Amino acid sequence: MLPYATVGEAAAALGRNLTAAEMAWFRYSAGMHDFWLYLHNLVFLLVVYTVAPLPLALVELLVPDAIHKYKVQPKVQVPVADVVKCYKNVVKIFIFAVGPLEFLSFHTSKWVGVRTGLPLPSAWEMAAQLTVYFMVEDYFGYWLHRALHSRWGYEHIHSVHHEFSAPFGFAAPYAHWAEVLILGLPAFLGPAIAPGHIVTFWLWFVLRHIEAVELHCGYDFPLTPTKLIPFYGGAEFHDYHHYVGRHTNNNFASVFTYCDYIYGTDKGYRYQKRQSSNSKGISTYSTCTLILAINS
Ligand SMILES: [Zn+2]
Ligand SMILES: [Zn+2]
Repeated sequence: MLPYATVGEAAAALGRNLTAAEMAWFRYSAGMHDFWLYLHNLVFLLVVYTVAPLPLALVELLVPDAIHKYKVQPKVQVPVADVVKCYKNVVKIFIFAVGPLEFLSFHTSKWVGVRTGLPLPSAWEMAAQLTVYFMVEDYFGYWLHRALHSRWGYEHIHSVHHEFSAPFGFAAPYAHWAEVLILGLPAFLGPAIAPGHIVTFWLWFVLRHIEAVELHCGYDFPLTPTKLIPFYGGAEFHDYHHYVGRHTNNNFASVFTYCDYIYGTDKGYRYQKRQSSNSKGISTYSTCTLILAINS
């Protein structure tokens, strides 16, 4: 809720006229409690997981030949029943895990300094904070994901996410509720270290989860804009992690590749890439037995 009754008061406090974006923000948020602004995140994430995987799922269902050559594991077809199963799980996870987490984390967000007022952040401020958020989440997410591949972590929690050895967009959030909470925590670390505006906070979660959908989409498109991002992993990188499954000791990072490179957990993946340099896709790699041998 903004501490100004009128636009004039806000302009006087800022010492300048409000920009068009700030005027829009004033009209939208002036009378709204910060808690409701914070809960917008829940709606945005549900929209992301409903809408973002949909175009590719429809193309795969209706005209699969149009994109078949880009499929990382071309021999695997995703049954519609699996898509429905994943989406039902997403709704359940939102009700029982993400929703409660949002409620409980509101006061923490206020405590660390996520603000809702004016002025709005500049594009540079948002870009710098988003970069920090991605780097911090990627690093801590790497270690937590690696811990989930311990015998206990895998058997009791992480095996749910690995149910699909050939991932697809709707399978991105398909996981045990405990995993959603555990891997969700590093997403709050960046905003705690470099707190920004609630708009940046929303954008961070939306971008991170669109990235998660892309990571699990099962297609390696050559002109994906994310290929321009240095050290970006992408769909093929994470697809390998699912392909090898339980026994993999490779590709734990969710966004970038540098952690796996530094800590030596990409050796099996890189070996297979070299082996398949004359063919396309993980499915054309040599046998799974060989992969397991390299990983162990
Ligand atoms: Zn895993
Ligand atoms: Zn995954």
